[in-house]
This record gives sequence, structure tokens and C-alpha cells, in this order.
Amino acid sequence: MKMKLYEDGEKSKAVCHHCKQLVSTTFARRDVPFSDGKGEVKNILAAVCDVCGNVVAVPAQSTPAVREARRKEVRPIEAQLPAIYLDVLDLAAYIVDSTSSTEFRKVLMILYLHRFASGEFPRALLIKAHRATSERFKERRGEARRRLSMKVTPRIVEDLKTLMHDTTLSQTEVIKSVIYQIHADVIESRKPELMRELGALSVVYA
Ligand SMILES: [Zn+2]
Repeated sequence: MKMKLYEDGEKSKAVCHHCKQLVSTTFARRDVPFSDGKGEVKNILAAVCDVCGNVVAVPAQSTPAVREARRKEVRPIEAQLPAIYLDVLDLAAYIVDSTSSTEFRKVLMILYLHRFASGEFPRALLIKAHRATSERFKERRGEARRRLSMKVTPRIVEDLKTLMHDTTLSQTEVIKSVIYQIHADVIESRKPELMRELGALSVVYA
């Protein structure tokens, strides 16, 4: 693979999808939209078609900037949950570190979502948690609900989608099941190794 450092104004050639032919290009700084059209990365070096002015290629040197912009592009995950689930998250965060902020809830959720999505925690455990949680936290009609709202990176949104797909649970069910597992591990079992690990995370994030 060719790894050349390009500079502003440099000429090259590339196939332009708009012109549908090999065209000469000029490297210039441009705001380039992400391939899915959601958001853009600002002011990166790109190969611009000399015929139509469209961006036809992004050199390797711009890839880290694209990734960074992608990573920072946060999206909300939201769920209306019986208030007890938020209380579980708050208590778990408090047990790990009594000085932690509610921001640490998000760290716990993301860690667990990712461990389930990556397969480190098996899918069967999530399904088991789903069955157990409706038993443990019975929902009554007219019960108080609170909104869980977290801004997360696209990677975590993908993790959540993967889990929904693989388990056929809804987003709210996945979130409840994950919170149930946090309840079992952090509030009930307090496994020393896990508590040490979470304690270290709370120093970094909370
Ligand atoms: Zn073109």
C-alpha cells in the first residue's frame, strides 16, 4: 500500500464517482461528510476532482482525524425505566466510589454493554438477566419512571444494536437486563476483582 505524505495543492489522479472516469485531482482542505451522511470531519486534506470539485479520496494521513471526529460524534441512548433501575445504577456507582458522580453510571453501563456485546459475557447471561429482572423488579401499573439518557460514541450504539439483534430483546429490555447484571455483580456479589477494577475506572472517569 502506498503511504505518501500529501500536501496542499499537490496533484494526483483518481476515479471520480461523480464524473465516472479517471480524473486529475488537487489536494485541498475540505469538510468531508462521513460515509453514512451523519456528521462530517472538518478541514482535512482530501483529493478534490479538478472537473467537478467533489472530494474523491482521503489520504491515509487524514484517517486518524476522521476516526477522531467519528469517535467524538456522540449520540444519545435513552430509555424510560421504572425508577428502581436508576436507583440500582446510582447505588452501584456509590458502592464502587462514594464520591463518584452520576457520570459514573454511564461508565458502568458502557462497560457492561461492551462486555456483553464483545462476547466476554455470554448472550445467554443477558437473556437469563432479562428473565430474572422482571421477577426481581416487578413493575406495577402507574409506577414512577425516570429517564436514563446517555451520550455515547457510535461504537457503543453499535454494541447495543448487536445485542438487540442477537437476543431479539428491545433496547429498553437490553438496558434493564444489563442493569440487573450490574445489580447482581456490584450490589449483591461485590466480587473483589471486579470491585478493584471498577474502583480504578472511577478514579479515571468519575
Ligand atoms: Zn468529478
